[in-house]
Amino acid sequence: MSANDWKTEGVTFTCTACGACCKGEGFVYLFPDDLDRLESHLKLSRQDVVDKYTMPIEIYFDDEELFPYLVLRKNEDVCIFLQEDGLCEIHEGKPRHCVDSPFMPEFLGHEESLKLFKKICPGWGTGAHHSPEELEPLMAFHEKRQEEYEEALEKHDYNLGKIFGVTLPPQPWPIIEGTLSDDEPDAS
Ligand code: SF4
Ligand code: SF4
Repeated sequence: MSANDWKTEGVTFTCTACGACCKGEGFVYLFPDDLDRLESHLKLSRQDVVDKYTMPIEIYFDDEELFPYLVLRKNEDVCIFLQEDGLCEIHEGKPRHCVDSPFMPEFLGHEESLKLFKKICPGWGTGAHHSPEELEPLMAFHEKRQEEYEEALEKHDYNLGKIFGVTLPPQPWPIIEGTLSDDEPDAS
């Protein structure tokens, strides 16, 4: 299956909760609604959530554009919330990236990321079949969220603190190399 084949074939996938996608390269990108979920689940202020569990980065795309993002912190390439038993410590409040993966443009619409995901994920190709009609609203949700994020970046002059309503550490932030898909940015 190649990127975008989901539109005609759907996807066969059931997560086995192995935790493999919570490790390694790539980041969990956060959007303002993710911080709402984290605040409420962890019962912390927005600023405390950001200070304890996130970090700002900049993605360097092929066209030399730098894009700032807030991401979940990692310990040596492992998500800060991955428990020793392989389960997620914040399962009920985890970001939409984690809730909906791999049903997002970053994976289903991106050839290279999909290839990597299929390599590490034992749930791919097994279990339930998800039809194009089921996947379409999720793909549209993530596309819209990304568009709104980019609009907010422009509106706030690329000031990440303003978009999230928090104070962030001063720049420079880590710069990560990303790639551009046919449809949209992705650095997974
Ligand atoms: S790698 Fe696949 S099966 Fe394992 S936790 Fe991630 S999505 Fe689930
Ligand atoms: S928040 Fe949970 S599901 Fe998401 S990457 Fe971290 S451990 Fe995995």
